[in-house]
Amino acid sequence: MTDTSSYSPVHVIGGGLAGSEAAWQIASAGIPVILHEMRGVRGTDAHKTDGLAELVCSNSFRSDDATSNAVGVLHAEMRLAGSLIMSCADRNQVPAGGALAVDRDGFSDAVTAAIDGHPLITVVREEVPGLPPKDWDLAIIATGPLTAPSLASAIQAETGADALAFFDAIAPIIHTESIDMDICWFQSRYDKVGPGGTGKDYINCPMDEAQYNAFVDALIAGDKTGFKEWEGTPYFDGCLPIEVMAERGRETLRHGPMKPMGLTNAHNPAVKAYAVVQLRQDNALGTLYNMVGFQTKLKYGAQAEVIRMIPGLEKAEFARLGGLHRNTYINSPVLLDKSLTLKSRPGLRFAGQITGCEGYVESASIGLLAGRFAAAERKGQPLPLPPETTAFGSLLNHITGGHIVSDDEPGKRSFQPMNINFGLFPLLEPGAIVKPEGVKRFRGKDKTVMKKQLVAQRALEDCAAWLKADQSA
Ligand SMILES: Cc1cc2nc3c(=O)[nH]c(=O)nc-3n(C[C@H](O)[C@H](O)[C@H](O)COP(=O)(O)OP(=O)(O)OC[C@H]3O[C@@H](n4cnc5c(N)ncnc54)[C@H](O)[C@@H]3O)c2cc1C
Repeated sequence: MTDTSSYSPVHVIGGGLAGSEAAWQIASAGIPVILHEMRGVRGTDAHKTDGLAELVCSNSFRSDDATSNAVGVLHAEMRLAGSLIMSCADRNQVPAGGALAVDRDGFSDAVTAAIDGHPLITVVREEVPGLPPKDWDLAIIATGPLTAPSLASAIQAETGADALAFFDAIAPIIHTESIDMDICWFQSRYDKVGPGGTGKDYINCPMDEAQYNAFVDALIAGDKTGFKEWEGTPYFDGCLPIEVMAERGRETLRHGPMKPMGLTNAHNPAVKAYAVVQLRQDNALGTLYNMVGFQTKLKYGAQAEVIRMIPGLEKAEFARLGGLHRNTYINSPVLLDKSLTLKSRPGLRFAGQITGCEGYVESASIGLLAGRFAAAERKGQPLPLPPETTAFGSLLNHITGGHIVSDDEPGKRSFQPMNINFGLFPLLEPGAIVKPEGVKRFRGKDKTVMKKQLVAQRALEDCAAWLKADQSA
C-alpha cells in the first residue's frame, strides 16, 4: 500500500466554491493540500465574511431535478463523486420549491469546518500575489471572478491574452416582516414541491397591467450607476439587470422574472395577475427573502423607490440592495488543455469561475474535476477525463475547447461564461426518441421532455461508470 504521507502537497489558491471542492477531492485521494485563502487578510468587493465557500449573492443552487434539468444532473453527478459542496448544501437546505437553496451561513460554516478538520488540508490565510513559485510543482488557481489585482496581472503577463471583465449584478434582499402579506401570498410556481419544499415556498407580489407599465417606466427612468472606463464589456445574457431587460421591450420582464404563469393570487383567485414578482427564502430562519431575478444596477436611492412601487413591498426594508460586480475570467479554450492545465506552464491548473464557467454549482464542479486531475497527476495515474456525455464532461468540453470562434470575426475573442445547459451535451443517437407504447399523441413538447430525460439518464449512467473506473480517488 502507498504511504500517502510521502506525497508532496498540491497548492490550491482560493478557498471559494471551486478551491474548497478541489482541496477536498485532492485530500480525499490521500494527498496533502495547502489551501491559500486571502480573506482574513484581504477582502473582496462582494464577500462579507472570512468563511470558505461564501455565497456572494443568491442562496440558490438552482433546480435539483436530475431527471430533466441540466443543473440538477450536475448536482447528481457531484453527489456521486463525493462532492463536499453538495453534501454541505444538502445538510443546510431551506425550502425553495423545485430548487436546492441553502442557509448561506450554515453552508459556509459546514464547508469551513470540514476543510479545517481534514488532517491532510492546511489552510493558510494569505494573499498569493503572483503565479505560484516554481517549487509548487502542482497548483490550482481558483481565485474566482474577484481575483486579487496583483495575481490577475501576473496571469495576464503569463498568458499574454486579455482577461475579460464584465458585470454580475446582485439582487436585493428584503426583511420578511416588512412584506405586506395581505397583498402577497405564499406559493411555488405550479405548486411544485421540491427538496425540503412545501409547494408554498415563494412570496408572490401581484401586479395589474397599469401597475406593471408604471413599474417598467420607472425602471427605465431610474438613476443608474454609470459605467467606468474599465467596465467596457457587455452583460452576460443569463444575468441581465432588470432595468436592462425592461429597456429591451415592455413585455420582456413579464416573460422573464415577472412571469405570472403557474401562480394564483390566494387573496383574489378569480383575477389573474398581469405580472408577479417572486421572493425566495434567503436564510434558515425565514427572516430574509431575496427578489428572484432582480439583479440591478440602479443607484440605491432609485432602487429602493422603484422596488417599493411593487404591491406588497410598499414598506420593504432592505437587508441588502442590489449592486454591480466585476467578473474576471481567462480565455480557457485557447489557454487550457483538456485537464484544465495552463498549456504554457505544466502543473498549473485553473478552476472555478475564472475558467469561464458561470455559477456556484458549475464553479464547484470544475473545482472537483481540477482536484481529481491534480490528484491523478501526483499519483502518476492516467488522467480521469469524464465522458462528454456527462454534465461534468460537457461543461469541461465547453471550457477547454467546445466553444467555436465565429468565422465572421477571426481572431476576435468570443468565449463567454456559461451555465450548464442541455445545449452543451452531445446529441442522442438517431432514433433514440420513440413514441412510448400505448401513448396516442406524441407531440413536439413530449419529444423535448423525453430528449432531456434520455440525456440526463445517459449522463448519470456514464458518470457512474467513469467514477468506477477512476483510480485517482
Ligand atoms: C457579485 C457576484 C454575484 C454572483 N452571484 C451569483 C449567484 O447569485 N448565483 C451563482 O450561481 N453565481 C453567482 N456568481 C458567480 C459565481 O458562481 C460565484 O462568484 C462563485 O463564488 C464562483 O466560485 P469560485 O470558487 O470560482 O470563486 P469564489 O467563490 O469567489 O472564490 C475565490 C476565492 O479566492 C480568493 N482569492 C482571490 N484572489 C486571491 C489571491 N490572490 N490569493 C488568495 N486568495 C485569493 C477569494 O477571497 C475567494 O475566497 C456571482 C459572482 C459575483 C462576483
